[in-house]
Amino acid sequence: MSKSTAAVKDPVCGMTVDPTTALHAECDGKTYSFCGEHCREQFLSTHVEVKPKGKSGGCCS
Ligand SMILES: [Zn+2]
Repeated sequence: MSKSTAAVKDPVCGMTVDPTTALHAECDGKTYSFCGEHCREQFLSTHVEVKPKGKSGGCCS
């Protein structure tokens, strides 16, 4: 249990990223990791766009 760097997937580009060096964003209580700022921005903007209206605050803002 010394090394627990479980690789995670960038939800935008599908790339496998190292969570220790990746950028992060939280959405719906989950933490996502991204290969770079551009993917993170895209993820956030996408989720804001497709987010059902009526809910204010919270997710990805
Ligand atoms: Zn990416």
